[in-house]
Amino acid sequence: VVAQIVVVLEPEAGYNNAGTVQGQLSAVSRPGLTCRIGGRTVVLAEGGEQLAERLRATAGVAAVLTPTAGAPLAQREHFPEGTVVDVGGVRLGDGGLAVIAGPCAVESAAQLRAAAVGVRSRGAAALRGGAFKPRSSPYAFQGLGEAGLRLLSEVGQAVRLPVVTEVVDVESLPLVCRHAQMLQIGTRNAQNFSLLRAAGASGLPVLLKRGFGCTVEEWLQAAEYVLREGNGAVVLCERGIRSFENSTRFTLDLGAVAALKRLSHLPVVVDPSHGVGRRQLVRPMALAAAAAGADGLLIDAHPEPDSALCDAAQAIPLDELGAIMVDLRRMMTSLGRRLTTARNEWSPTGSHTALRSPLPARAPVAVG
Ligand code: PEP
Ligand code: MN
Repeated sequence: VVAQIVVVLEPEAGYNNAGTVQGQLSAVSRPGLTCRIGGRTVVLAEGGEQLAERLRATAGVAAVLTPTAGAPLAQREHFPEGTVVDVGGVRLGDGGLAVIAGPCAVESAAQLRAAAVGVRSRGAAALRGGAFKPRSSPYAFQGLGEAGLRLLSEVGQAVRLPVVTEVVDVESLPLVCRHAQMLQIGTRNAQNFSLLRAAGASGLPVLLKRGFGCTVEEWLQAAEYVLREGNGAVVLCERGIRSFENSTRFTLDLGAVAALKRLSHLPVVVDPSHGVGRRQLVRPMALAAAAAGADGLLIDAHPEPDSALCDAAQAIPLDELGAIMVDLRRMMTSLGRRLTTARNEWSPTGSHTALRSPLPARAPVAVG
């Protein structure tokens, strides 16, 4: 077993300090991987405690970890500045609230265009839509596949919204990467470790949904698989967990959202749609998620919700999205935050640089 070393540099340290660390490594070990995580330059290497001790004395080094378990790259402890993830020019985790909206599944050019124009005009900052759908039943609509991806990139460019879409397996990952600005890893793949590694290695931002049977600790360890590939652009997405309760489709765990803002430096997005599974409940839970400190929302919205081929019961009409945006704007203003708006200049890829965002100076909502 090869021991792992994580070298976290001081905030002001740069690639030249990383070069010094690499120099130290090259004398005794294989070269490490220099990357940006949580606003810090990090070197991921192999080696034991002896090497770690030597690296601790190197200029610009803040901490040298020798983890054997856990998720040190995902936790806030060594990354107090926080992560800002750039998705095609839209920033997640910079203090704003970004709404990512669109249909559960891409069904046709007309449907996707209507959805994209509709969500953009109502204030969404990014477009969601599934081309590869992980369906519980093999008889259910599986998505349009590559044709759906082509529609997503075409329509995303036309309306100038970055595209967030799910990747369901390692085989289709290169294809999805050619069309998306952010890879979504679904709840059913949340512990598919080979997929997590491959998504990490792709360098694209990753929206990592919580496994519906995963604890927060397991979720952060899943994020760690992506981060370990040197990809700091990870966003966590709470989408509901399985509980005994069946009045909603899943149980949306907003307590975990508030907890994660303390535990981790990664931005947190909430998907109220899959969490509740019923369109009447999307608005209250979207607002609650924003109050809990979410950095973004992922919402199923459809031009004709009743005829949606996937998750029709939870799809909201475009006008309901508009109403939610009005509420969110008011709420954000009263909390001293703002809604993240779509950008006019559309850039096909994010910069993937982990910028800095401070810990909120106060709790997002005054309770009491
Ligand atoms: C989705 O967002 O379309 C989806 C399938 O979500 P989840 O993986 O959370 O079920
Ligand atoms: Mn869905």
